[in-house]
Amino acid sequence: MIKDTTKVTTYSFTKIFPAAKSVEKVAEARLPTEFGEFRIAGYKSLTSNEEFVCVFKGEFNENVAVPVRIHSQCLTGDVFHSIKCDCGPQLQWAMETIEKEGRGAIVYQHQEGRGIGIINKIRAYALQDEGADTIEANLRLGLDVDLREYEQCVEILKDLGIKKIKAMSNNPDKLRAMRKGGLEIVERLPIEFKPSKDTQKYLKVKKIQMGHLLNLVS
Ligand SMILES: [Zn+2]
Repeated sequence: MIKDTTKVTTYSFTKIFPAAKSVEKVAEARLPTEFGEFRIAGYKSLTSNEEFVCVFKGEFNENVAVPVRIHSQCLTGDVFHSIKCDCGPQLQWAMETIEKEGRGAIVYQHQEGRGIGIINKIRAYALQDEGADTIEANLRLGLDVDLREYEQCVEILKDLGIKKIKAMSNNPDKLRAMRKGGLEIVERLPIEFKPSKDTQKYLKVKKIQMGHLLNLVS
């Protein structure tokens, strides 16, 4: 038998050094908001140029489950209150929930438009104006449908001392990443709003093609 020498073995840094840090907290301050008083921390990736923001509140220990959200930046929804998507209300609901519980955390990752960036997102919106859905638009631009990765967001939550969580997410990829990263999901808090005529199509694509857990979408 001829020995197969073409097989290439690749080594994953985090597999060899599972405890190796890939993010680092570089700043932290008080953040009073219209929803209540929070803390804000800035994290930097040690493996790329990516920066993360974490807004959190309260003390964390291994025994108490706290509400947690990984929120992907949506400039149009979060800042300009676009009603094409549900990102803005989701972020607000997450902050209100944390305030009510007295503890919890949101990791805000700057992966705009599921990772394609704001300019490409506007290009995709233009195609959506002509009838394409959110996935078709990305594909017609030659872009991936979803480029986001959540490992470092999970690492940030663990760095804060969080272990048990109430996951504020409808996204199965995010839930999987949280579990895989070692967080214990005690409960999922659905973060869903009644679809409007502007969000109906977008949410339907998310539910049917991306597997999001959406009960209010028909
Ligand atoms: Zn959005």
